[in-house]
This record gives sequence, structure tokens and C-alpha cells, in this order.
Amino acid sequence: MLFNRPILGYLDAMAELADKGEMTFRGIPVSAGAAGVVHGRILVMDGARPSITKRQLAEPEVSEEINRLGRALVETRQQLLEVQRKVSAGMGAEEGGIFDAHLLVLEDRTLLDEVVRMITEQKVNAEHAFHSVAERYAATLAAIEDDYLRERAADMRDVTTRVLNNLLGVQQEMDLRHLKEACILISHDLTPSNTAQLDKGHVLGFATDIGSKTSHTAIMARSLRIPAVVGLEDVSGRLESGQHALLDGINGVLVINPTDKTLSEYRELIRKQVILQEKLRDTQLKPAITLDGHRVFLSANIEQPADAEQVKANGAEGVGLFRTEYLFIGSERPPDEEQQYRAYREVAAALKPLPVVIRTLDLGGDKFLAHMPASREMNPFLGWRAIRFCLQRTDIFREQLRAILRASAEGNVKMMYPMISGLDELNQANALVEKYKEELRREGVPFDEHLEIGAMIETPSAALVSDSLAKRLKFFSIGTNDLIQYALAVDRMNEKIAHLYEPTHPAILQLIKITVEAAHNHRIWVSVCGEMAGDPVLAPLLLGLGVDELSVAAPLVPPVKFIIRRLKLTEARDLAEFALKCESATEILTRCQELARSIAPSLFEAK
Ligand code: PEP
Ligand code: MG
Repeated sequence: MLFNRPILGYLDAMAELADKGEMTFRGIPVSAGAAGVVHGRILVMDGARPSITKRQLAEPEVSEEINRLGRALVETRQQLLEVQRKVSAGMGAEEGGIFDAHLLVLEDRTLLDEVVRMITEQKVNAEHAFHSVAERYAATLAAIEDDYLRERAADMRDVTTRVLNNLLGVQQEMDLRHLKEACILISHDLTPSNTAQLDKGHVLGFATDIGSKTSHTAIMARSLRIPAVVGLEDVSGRLESGQHALLDGINGVLVINPTDKTLSEYRELIRKQVILQEKLRDTQLKPAITLDGHRVFLSANIEQPADAEQVKANGAEGVGLFRTEYLFIGSERPPDEEQQYRAYREVAAALKPLPVVIRTLDLGGDKFLAHMPASREMNPFLGWRAIRFCLQRTDIFREQLRAILRASAEGNVKMMYPMISGLDELNQANALVEKYKEELRREGVPFDEHLEIGAMIETPSAALVSDSLAKRLKFFSIGTNDLIQYALAVDRMNEKIAHLYEPTHPAILQLIKITVEAAHNHRIWVSVCGEMAGDPVLAPLLLGLGVDELSVAAPLVPPVKFIIRRLKLTEARDLAEFALKCESATEILTRCQELARSIAPSLFEAK
């Protein structure tokens, strides 16, 4: 979805309104590639909390005040259940599951006991007591250097506002389902409940002060494919509803009152994007084949069952990476075997006979269950993550492995383990799979006896022992996102050292080469599913290094296919040969850019 309105005509009209003082805000593009530029008037959501005053109670008022709090909690619970029901019906159980975290705040005995104690002992009104205690909890969570816990603080504040509104008899948050005019929402934060209720017919896009790419709000925006920019710092406090704006979800920019010059720049960018999108649409359903006849397997990465729809629509030939942890992190309790089975079966059946590679749980690092806080580990990315977690929590792993095995009876399912760092882990995981296969056989439950199992190669140690691993597996999938951070010792989340995060570093290319050679020596295939595969500048290098498959975010399938269809494998091999001899990451990158720009210039003009 690049432009969902006739933006060119609109920009002409806007030119008259221009020069009222252009303001440009730069933030984080949430859905880059999936969503583009939208325009419209902004609607600034007043995220202000109801104003709370402190009132001293007389002794006889205390018990009624506690009853009043009880009624507000019941009312809030009913409202949340209703929102959850609607969201689950409209968007799926996973999105609905996000409200489990909100409902749990209402059941938090420590918090509620403290509120009741404050009302009783200090004889203060329920609003003041609830607000003081909940805000203290939220502030503590928000202060912790961890995206996940900060999101929990947002959940806590979201629920608190609802409870306070109910205590005060104030109408609940702005009802976004009844917007009259299409607009761009501007807000300090957009809660999951707000985001889930967005009506795409009326909400062109949104921009928020805070947020990260991994927040629930961002996950929702991606699912809904709504253009969004987050992390704009204090933007909501500086704008007024009714102002005209351009929201650029590709580059992460919000322009208020754009000048003639900006409008004409955007007009040009939009014109090029429209042409590019048409070209990409033309190639979309054609095979990913190079000019000299080499067939590349191009598949998509998905995060949730609903994404399966986008796989074929974007011209992918299956799912190369299903990140199953998103079924887990949206809720307080891990989904059970049956829930997971239904989710995996849904994807496998929808895409049959195309392959679906289900990755076993990759919790840890930056993805946590609510009861598994990051703060307990000094280095969560080097800690209790992925296969390490699963091999210790075999209760959770068992349910997942059984669910995947059962789903394998319904489609072309393959399975892979994340973050394997050596042979022992692989052997242990394989032994568990055998054990659960035996259980299913005894129970007479069908599964694919020949289910192919692979491993992600995302630690340098796995690449270096890939020969041993390859003997015991059917495929490899190179996770460059992690391989780069582990090999170069560069935290992939840290923007301060982002310049050191170099996919073309000679060390990375050597690790990929070793992995590809080990795979091919043992006649197994090798894929790359990290972000590097979805970059049209770098995809030729990977193909030149001998990679058989690229698995990329669904919206990136068309541009990657576009470049593959303009590339000769011989050129890619020459590039790889040069790169493997070259000592400089920058020089390698420059060569990659030169090749990509020379064979597909239009891909690079529309930014
Ligand atoms: C990777 O590390 O490249 C990968 C695909 O896994 P994730 O991004 O989920 O860690
Ligand atoms: Mg990874």
C-alpha cells in the first residue's frame, strides 16, 4: 500500500496552503516497505489523563469508597473483555491476546491491596489512591532500560486511565471507530487497544512520540499495514488537530505544513514510487530467475498466521521463516499445544503445497514472556535465549514440537531450531523430537514422518562447525541479523554503534562461505532469512556466495525479485569472488551498490 489517496492532485491543492511554517520531524519508520506516504489533516489525540484531585474522607466514607473502586474495576474488566472480544473476532486471537496483559493488571493483588490500604489508612479517595500507586508501578517499569518492560508500563497506564475514567464517570478514550473524516493520528503513544480498533478507511497513518519497532503498537501497525512513524519525541505536544501533514512511512518523516519545495520533492518521489510499484507489480508473479537462467527460491518471513495472506500476494514461494515467538509474547501465558497447532495448521493449509519453515521458539534476547523479565540477565542476547531456553523448559518446548509435528500432517511443513551454537544442542533437540514423534505414534496422531529439520546458522560457532551440523540436518538458514551481531560483537539494537554493524564485513562473508560449502558438500540447501537477504543491494552478493534461497519480509519480495530478474548469476559470482578477496567492508559495499544501481536503477530513485 503506497498511496491510498489521489495524492498528486491533493498536493497541488496543498501548495496554496503551504509556507505556513514547515516543520519536519524525523522518527523511526515502523512499516518501511509495507506502507508508504499518506497525506491528510492530523488529529491530535489528547492522551491527557483525567485530572485527579485528592480528597480526604471521613471514617464512614471509607468502606463505600472501597466498594466504588470495586465497581470501577468490574466495569473496566467488562470493557476490556468487550474490546478483546471484538479484536479477536476482527483480527484474530493473537491480537486479542494482547489484552490479557491489561486484564492481569486488574487482577494484580499486590497493586490492589496497596490501593485499598492507602484508602483505608490515609483516608483518601479511590482516584487519588489508584493513580498514585499505579503510577509508581508504571514509572518503575518505564525507568528500566528494556523495551519490553517499558511496554508493560504503557499497558499499566492504559488500564489506569480506564479505571480512573470509570471512577470519575468520564467517557472512555476517543472512539476511533467513529471518525468522520480520514486523518493522520498524532499521539504521545497509541495503546494496543487504540491501534487494534483503527479503521483503515479513516486512519491514513499515525505518528507517535514514543515507541520502538518491537512495541505492540508497531506489531499491530505492521499487521494492519498502516503507515506509521514512531519515536518522534515530543511531536504530539507541538501540533494541533486540523494541520495538514505528509506522513512518510518509508523514510520515517512527518512534515507539517509542507512548503512548495517539499511538496514538489514529494510529488517527484511519489511519481517515481508509482512507476516503481507498477514495475514491481509486473514482476511480482513471475519466477525469481536470473537473466542467465538460474532459479532462486524466494520466500517470505512471517510473524503471525494472518501474514500468510501476504505471502502469495507478494509473489513468494512459501515461508522461509515463521517467527513463532509472536504467538507467545503477546500474552501472559504461553499458548498451549492445541492453540499452537491451530495457528501452524492455518498457515500450512493456506499455503499448501508451498513450504512453511516453522522456527521453534526464539524467546529471550529482546523478546520475553511477561513473567520472564530481561532485567535478570546482564546480556540477554548472550543468555537464556532460543534453543537454550527450550532445552531447559522442555514443558514449553514439548507443546510446541508436538504442535508443529501435528501441523506437518496438514501441509508442507519444515522445522528449524534458532541459535544453535554447537552439535550437543542439535543432538538434544533432535532427541526430543524423536521422543515426541514416538508419543504421537503411540497416540495414533498423524504427522509427517519425513518432516525436514534444519537449523539457523546465526552464531559464528555454528558456521564454524557447519560441517558437523550439515550431516544431521536437511537445510540451513543463515540468520544474518544475529550472525553479524555475534561475529562482530555489535549489539544489533544499539544505534550508537550502528555504523559498526556491517553485513559486508569480510568476516561475515567468510562465515557465509563456510556455511554454504558445508551445506553443499552434504547436499543440503542453504537459505538466508536475515534482513541482509531483503536488501536488493546485498541479495546478489549472497547469490554469488552460493546461497540457494532468500527469505525476506513479504513486502520486500517484489524488489528482491526485480533485481534477481535483472541479474546474471555470473555477475553475482564475480562480485562474490571480488568480495572474498577484498579486505574492506566499505569497498565491498560500494561494489554491491554499483552492481545493483547499474542493473536496476529505478529501484534506487524513489527514496
Ligand atoms: C536473524 O537473526 O537473522 C533472524 C532471521 O532471526 P531474528 O531476526 O528473528 O533474530
Ligand atoms: Mg536471529
